[in-house]
Amino acid sequence: MPELPEVETTKRGISPYIIGKRVKQINILFPTLRWPIEPSLPDILAKQTLHNIERRGKYLVLDFAVGTLLIHLGMSGSLRVLNTPGPRKKHDHFEIVFSDKHILRLHDPRRFGAVIWCENDWREHALIKHLGPEPLSDAFNGFYLHQQARNKTVAIKNFVMNSKIVVGVGNIYASESLFLAGINPKTITRKVSKQRCIKLADTIKQVLAHAIEQGGTTLKDFTNAEGEPGYFALQLNVYGREGEPCPVCQRPIKHCIIGQRATYYCSHCQR
Ligand SMILES: [Zn+2]
Repeated sequence: MPELPEVETTKRGISPYIIGKRVKQINILFPTLRWPIEPSLPDILAKQTLHNIERRGKYLVLDFAVGTLLIHLGMSGSLRVLNTPGPRKKHDHFEIVFSDKHILRLHDPRRFGAVIWCENDWREHALIKHLGPEPLSDAFNGFYLHQQARNKTVAIKNFVMNSKIVVGVGNIYASESLFLAGINPKTITRKVSKQRCIKLADTIKQVLAHAIEQGGTTLKDFTNAEGEPGYFALQLNVYGREGEPCPVCQRPIKHCIIGQRATYYCSHCQR
């Protein structure tokens, strides 16, 4: 599943080809995504210039003078920039054709992705408004995390995966960050000390920044139509490694379910 680092890498990969370009045509090939694609988009965006692309959480935010297009990659979505149309594939849902002939094409086999048109301020959109801070921003830090943690009785792993607390900490990144911070994922959130919250916030930043960096070097070319979706293989310490030796203490890594999600940890290194 594309997580924050993949979405950030996608943003960086596609931006140089399409920012500042004028839309020639919008093709809605298969409107069924998580929500149907707005049918009047071809009229709305014709001849509009794409001013900028931002990322907020796992949303790509495409900025036009007349409004904003939010794109979410869901479980299996990927974006490509093509310079010739070439044959379309099954599960290609949506295209923006620019006047210089570059095409941004959304492919999504499982259809949990979304293409959402916002006429008004996108920051006020119901999907965006309640999102917590960006993990790599200064607004997210140990003091903030500790303040939010007070009175919370959920497991710390659920807490950091809650997008109202902080965006973009998916299941794998939560397990890995808690391992590196030495915190047992089952720990009741309000019992995590300020010092450990500081360590955890720093670790989350490191893990995500490292994944983005890795993505930038290992990801396939965004202009290659045949490329696999850009979900990168990370070097993982604990995730998916039940029974294997902990990279620090060599004791077997444990597996449990927290909030219905697979969780991996070392009961010796994580207290
Ligand atoms: Zn260990």
